[in-house]
Amino acid sequence: MKTFALAGNPNSGKSTLFNSLTGSRAYVGNWPGVTVERKEGTYLNKKKNQEAKIIDLPGIYSLSPYSPEERIARDYLLSGEPDLVIAVVDSTNLERNLYLTLQLLEMDIPVVVALNMSDALAKQGRSVDVKALSDGLGVPVISISALQSHNLDELMALSLKAAERKRVGQTILSHELIAKAKDIYSEEEAPSPLFHAIKALEQDEVEEKDHPEAYKRVGELKPDESLSSSFADARYRFLEPLVKKCLSGKSTKAKEKLSLSDKIDKVLTNKWAALPIMALIMFLIFHIVFGTDLLYIGSIYSAATGNSLFAEGFGGVELIIDGETYQPFADLFYSTDGVNNLGEFLHMLAGDNETGILGCISLGIKQGLININTPTWLVNFLYDGVLGGLAAVLGFVPQIMLLFVFFSFLEDSGYMARVAFVLDRIFRHFGVSGRAFLPMIMGFGCAIPAMINTRSLSSEKEKIKTIRVIPFFTCGAKAEFLVIIAAVIASIVGVDAGLFTFLTYVFGVAVALIAVIVMTKTTLKEEAPPFIMELPSYHLPQPKALALHVLDKGGHFIKKAFTIIFASTVIIWFLANFSWDYTPVWTLEGEAAETSSILYSLGNLLQPLFTPMGFGVQAGNNGWIYAVASIQGIVAKENVVATAESLSGVAGYGSFADFALASGISTAGLVGFAVFNMLTIPCFASVATAKGELGSKKAYINTLLFWLVTSYGLGTLAYITCEWVWTLAITLPCLAGLIVGLYFYNRPKKIKEVNA
Ligand code: GDP
Ligand code: MG
Repeated sequence: MKTFALAGNPNSGKSTLFNSLTGSRAYVGNWPGVTVERKEGTYLNKKKNQEAKIIDLPGIYSLSPYSPEERIARDYLLSGEPDLVIAVVDSTNLERNLYLTLQLLEMDIPVVVALNMSDALAKQGRSVDVKALSDGLGVPVISISALQSHNLDELMALSLKAAERKRVGQTILSHELIAKAKDIYSEEEAPSPLFHAIKALEQDEVEEKDHPEAYKRVGELKPDESLSSSFADARYRFLEPLVKKCLSGKSTKAKEKLSLSDKIDKVLTNKWAALPIMALIMFLIFHIVFGTDLLYIGSIYSAATGNSLFAEGFGGVELIIDGETYQPFADLFYSTDGVNNLGEFLHMLAGDNETGILGCISLGIKQGLININTPTWLVNFLYDGVLGGLAAVLGFVPQIMLLFVFFSFLEDSGYMARVAFVLDRIFRHFGVSGRAFLPMIMGFGCAIPAMINTRSLSSEKEKIKTIRVIPFFTCGAKAEFLVIIAAVIASIVGVDAGLFTFLTYVFGVAVALIAVIVMTKTTLKEEAPPFIMELPSYHLPQPKALALHVLDKGGHFIKKAFTIIFASTVIIWFLANFSWDYTPVWTLEGEAAETSSILYSLGNLLQPLFTPMGFGVQAGNNGWIYAVASIQGIVAKENVVATAESLSGVAGYGSFADFALASGISTAGLVGFAVFNMLTIPCFASVATAKGELGSKKAYINTLLFWLVTSYGLGTLAYITCEWVWTLAITLPCLAGLIVGLYFYNRPKKIKEVNA
């Protein structure tokens, strides 16, 4: 079977093409030696009886390696393994993309140019003269749309044909030394001598390492130092007229399109406006997903009529289970906090084991079990232990998926790239490069893919720093308990829950940034590595791509709910319902029933540890629940909610929110609880990923310590701050004054040193 490699700039659509070609017949692994994702799959056309192995190479801008990706792509193409390379080109950005193609043409390997995004080009009212471009480049060219699967079978047929014949590298460069250098490599019997010759003349570092002998002999030809930039110039000078000739259509319209993206950027990446706009966009998203009263319909309605909207619940659905009355949809549209925004509505619709759809199902199962005379303990186990934990987690899935819809939208539209760009401009001063923000932002979804994404970072130190702070970017699972705690605190303090949830996200990001800066200045000192990134022009994300993105993330959640979280809730239920001598606690009476479970004594043992953060001894007899929930969070963050909900039930409260209000800890203690669980050691799965990515044992142990110390320290600080706001309102300005004073005291000396 022939092997085809897909090479092209980032965002040229390689992965989309790969997925369209290979469907489900794909395998994801790593490139040998380095840990950059390697995707391999098979194209199969049963009708024409055609097949080929497809390799998705990492996105690159050139073959002069500055990054691990470029090195991988180059080595693979030269390895002799692929029979042909498909140069994937974004046809809406021809000139830039063909620059890489010209370098690919220098290798001794058949090339087919796939002009991707033909649909987008057509929308701009433009088209490419495929024949003229093919004549200009000397290789087959075909127009395709990876997204709409247009012309893909034709591309494969063309490639299969082109792969039949050998091809010798060609260049558009004309310099007298090229032929001489090529002879040197030919004598050394290196494959692709032309490619190596040109790289040696460009004084490419990798070339020097890979072929030291030949490189030295090329050096004896005394090539001009500036050949590398004059070659780059020559390539663009070749491409400009070629592209002009091949590209037709209303270029005015194209310019308008281009300038629209530029115009948007003028505002969105503006020096002053960028950050406030970013904050506003994020706030709106959180308000829609977690807040109430978006349109204030509820307030307007009650002001106008004096009645509250939907206060009677939804259609008066009532369930009487085991003698108790439930109204599963009572808070669907409206609660005491106001009209539910879309996200909260979805949450209420899905519900937990007393409300919403999941509530109806759980309660139905409970009644069914009672009807068939199931023993009470088994009913309790299935209802509180199993269904309670599951429903608590699953109830959040639609709401969290809505959040993912917004994040995926920002990512696919090109806005997230701007965020990295804007943040790079600011944080470069502190030695942090924008490149690290891309994996960090992915952390909002889930820390695991985010940590894997750090493989693209060029420096080891940058990678360690990034992996450490990724968990501070609140992931979907952490969002669950933050939402609950935010709702409790918001109701006590009287602020909007959406605003409060948003602030917890901001807090996480702030901690991450400060931590990175501190590490850069202390234990992991370095200059910010250069950050080269092309800002893709804005486009409306395709619903299909968006849906795939979101479903992928949602599916991950649901799978986790039924495996690891399911298992932990069952274990916790047993520990919470049996004493050390295996007596079921429900057979005990009064005080003993509450205090003889195994979990109670374990939690009690650990409880004092959390005192500095406000949820230890302060919570008295209830403290063990916070302790157990926090420890469970290290297994999976969803467990914080699942455990807290089911143990609150054990302790005789309807929900964790009721428990939190009654448990005896202060609002400040709740803040401490939230901060600690947000920042502490993430779930098992991310810890395992971090271990694999960090490589060295020392870095791994230090990272675990880093998480523990940061969460404990900041949890304590947050508690103290909130508990003694007024004391601190006086001491902190004094401290700040002292620091500013010290700074100014030190500054003049530094300036003198620089001048000297
Ligand atoms: P890669 O970085 O080269 O792997 O690029 P991706 O496959 O991730 O694609 C980048 C973006 O371009 C995604 O948002 C795709 O949905 C979009 N895209 C890919 N192919 C096409 C296409 O043929 N037409 C259009 N309009 N968009 C495309
Ligand atoms: Mg890709």
